[in-house]
Amino acid sequence: MAKNTWSEKAKRTLTSVLPVSKNRVGTCNRCGQCCKLPNVCPFLDYDKDGYSICKIYKFRPLNCRKYPRTEDEKVCKNCGYYFITEDDKVLTK
Ligand code: SF4
Ligand code: SF4
Repeated sequence: MAKNTWSEKAKRTLTSVLPVSKNRVGTCNRCGQCCKLPNVCPFLDYDKDGYSICKIYKFRPLNCRKYPRTEDEKVCKNCGYYFITEDDKVLTK
């Protein structure tokens, strides 16, 4: 798992033009954790039920849209996305 550092954020930003891993499964549970990497984003908000909201959702940057793009860049333990192996794919067919 990657560390929550500015250098990791810079890496995510620079590589955000690349495609999302085909091994990613799951869904966003709107925990908002990825909007705090490594600082709390000023556009992060929460609805009355405690789910995260992006105040600039339609215009959010690529690294936000694609997080976590690869298993290597996953920082948030409670993220609803996870990554399966090629073997897992065969077993689910
Ligand atoms: S721009 Fe939106 S999606 Fe991106 S970190 Fe900020 S609140 Fe989260
Ligand atoms: S950490 Fe994962 S589940 Fe949580 S808001 Fe970000 S993408 Fe969604």
